Amino acid sequence: MKILLANPRGFCAGVYMAIDVVDQLLEICPNETIFVFHEIVHNRHVVERFQHRGVIFVESIAAIPDGAIVVFSAHGVSPEIRLEAKSKRLATIDATCPLVTKVHAEAIRYARKGFQILLVGHRHHQEVVGTLGEAPDSMQVVECPADIASLVIHDPQKLVYLTQTTLSLDDATVIIDALKRAFPEIKEPPVSDICYATTNRQLAVRAIAPQCDLVLVVGSANSSNSVRLTEISMNCGTPARLIDDRSEIEPSWFVGVNTLLVTAGASAPEDLVHDLIEDLVHRYGAVVEQHDVCHEEVEFGLPGTLKSMMRERGIDPAGRRIVRGDDGARLRDWFADHKIPFRTVDLTVKGSSPAESAARD
Ligand code: SF4
Repeated sequence: MKILLANPRGFCAGVYMAIDVVDQLLEICPNETIFVFHEIVHNRHVVERFQHRGVIFVESIAAIPDGAIVVFSAHGVSPEIRLEAKSKRLATIDATCPLVTKVHAEAIRYARKGFQILLVGHRHHQEVVGTLGEAPDSMQVVECPADIASLVIHDPQKLVYLTQTTLSLDDATVIIDALKRAFPEIKEPPVSDICYATTNRQLAVRAIAPQCDLVLVVGSANSSNSVRLTEISMNCGTPARLIDDRSEIEPSWFVGVNTLLVTAGASAPEDLVHDLIEDLVHRYGAVVEQHDVCHEEVEFGLPGTLKSMMRERGIDPAGRRIVRGDDGARLRDWFADHKIPFRTVDLTVKGSSPAESAARD
C-alpha cells in the first residue's frame, strides 16, 4: 500500500495558541484549578489529556466557583458569557482564535451600521452561537439554501453575509450563490471568513483524494473542519472515514485499497497521525509520501491577559511551549527513527493565509 500524507494537516495556528494557553496556565498556576468553558478545541484526545492533568471543562459559567481561572475556548464566546464570567469575578483568559474574533468584529460593525447579517454556518456549533451573541437582533443563521425562504429581510440593500470559519468551501459556495441569487445586493465580508487552515486542508484533500482509494481523516466527530474534510473527499468521489485514532480502523476498510490518503483536522494532534501510520505500515508494509500542497507559517501570540499573568509571576511570556508538529526536519527524523520509507512530493499551490488575504483586499 502507498500512503499519501496530506500537508498541511492537523493543528492550525489558532489551535496551537489555545492549547498553549492551557498548557502554560497549568504550569504557572500549579495550585489552582483551571476551568475551560467548552472543549478548548474539538478533539477528544486533547480534552482527555488535559483532564488527566486536572483541567475541568464546563458548559456553563455557573458551574465555576467565584474568582476561579477560566479559559474561553478557541471557538469564541458571546458577550453574555463574558458578562456572566465578570459577574462571578472570574480571571478570564480568552483563547478565542483571532480569526473567529475577526468575524465577531465584522458582525458588530455591520450591526452598528444598521445591516441585517446572514450568518452562514451550523446553528448549534459553538462558534456560531458565540458570533450570533454579538448582535442577536440583527443576525439570522443560514445552514442551507432551503433556509433562505424563511428569512425575514427588511431592506435587501442593507444585507451582508458572514460565515463560520470552518465551513466546507464546496457547501459555502452553494449557499452563498443561492444568497446572491435571492438578494443580488447582498454585501460580502471584506475577506473570506473561512479561515486559511480550513481552506488549505480542504485544498490538499481536493488535490490528492482523486488519486486515492480511501481517505482517513484523523479528528473527532464534533470537529467541524475534520468532518468537512471527509465531505470534500466524498465530493471528489473517494470514500472517507473519520477516526479519532488508530484503534478505530477496521481491516475490511483496506480491502482493494492500494493508495490511501491520510490527513487530520485542525484540532487533531500529529502524534495520532504518526501512531496511525506506524500501525498501517506494520499491517500492510506501506510506503509513505507526504504531498505538500501549501506551506503555512501563520502563528498567533498568546492572549494579553495570559502574558500579564505570566509577567506578574516573574515568567517571560516570550517562550512557546507547544512545538509545531509540521516541522519538516523533525518529521523526516521520525520516519528515519521508525525505519519507514518516506519522501515528500511538492505540489505547492497558492495557499490562503491571513496575510495573503489582507494583501488581496
Ligand atoms: S480552524 Fe481556523 S478559525 Fe479555527 S482555530 Fe484554526 S485557524 Fe482559527
